Amino acid sequence: MSVPRTPVTVRVPAKVNVRLAVGAARPDGFHDLANVFLAVSLFDEVTASPADGLTVTCAGPDADQVPLDRTNLAARAAEILARRAGIEPAVHLHIAKRIPVAGGMAGGSADGAAALLACDALWGLDTPRAELLDICAVLGSDVPFSLVGGAALGTGRGELLTPVEAGAFHWVFAVADGGLSTPAVFREFDRLTAGTPVPPPVAPPALLTALASGDPQALAPLLANDLQAAALSLRPQLAATLAAGTEAGALAALVSGSGPTTAFLVRDQEAAGKVAAALEASGTCRTTRTASSPAPGATVRQR
Ligand code: ATP
Repeated sequence: MSVPRTPVTVRVPAKVNVRLAVGAARPDGFHDLANVFLAVSLFDEVTASPADGLTVTCAGPDADQVPLDRTNLAARAAEILARRAGIEPAVHLHIAKRIPVAGGMAGGSADGAAALLACDALWGLDTPRAELLDICAVLGSDVPFSLVGGAALGTGRGELLTPVEAGAFHWVFAVADGGLSTPAVFREFDRLTAGTPVPPPVAPPALLTALASGDPQALAPLLANDLQAAALSLRPQLAATLAAGTEAGALAALVSGSGPTTAFLVRDQEAAGKVAAALEASGTCRTTRTASSPAPGATVRQR
């Protein structure tokens, strides 16, 4: 008789890139990156429950934009893990979605990492951490960081992680209407940089020092995203959102990853509330979220 297993819920954070340095396109089409990831306290939850086959459901404000078939990164994670273990992917995955979809905050990647951890616990596999990280890298460049959380420098396609020190910071995120496709933003980056030499990507030591200090005034002038020009080229309205946040007192404003979510570094929680209210009143975004960093990576909540 099989042992009935109880559902497993994993909480997983979104990310913001405090430095996203993009190198020239490689022969395989990917770009070398120097990507300083920071996990923020904006979480999805993925619950894995025993089932006859592999099914996915999703709830949350953007749930209608999330694919529920085998292209969902959570479903892919379950399939890969099951195949490695030589078992059937008999699991129902429910995603409670708060991370904006296609917003440059690695929401899909987060769900992939969360599903991997949840299925590993549900199926009692105890897969070594290093193997889980290998599967994450197969799922996508941002997935290993979703598992690890905290703060890290990602090199290669962004999947080779070195932890870095980070003090506490406060953020506001402005969620735009509709998403931006990450490959389309990279293509636009290639178009905009065609014919000009693209330097090798680096994470400036001054940025890492400021990140460790926890001083938002020190960090603010060092935030940078090489994909910002490409995201603004595809979505010029984002310039008005960035300006509205800066006018409202944000210390720095930048496009988050490939966008179109914009990120605002603020002095403290009180400033976060003010900047979020001003952004919502400006009519330049759909909604806002406030968050702090660093946040822990994917974590099992109950067994
Ligand atoms: P990144 O910052 O890693 O580039 P993103 O935050 O811009 O990613 P996602 O929210 O990960 O974007 O969604 C990108 C696309 O991935 C979506 O449009 C959707 O079709 C697909 N997708 C697959 N699985 C998921 C998932 N679990 N949640 C959201 N989108 C998913």
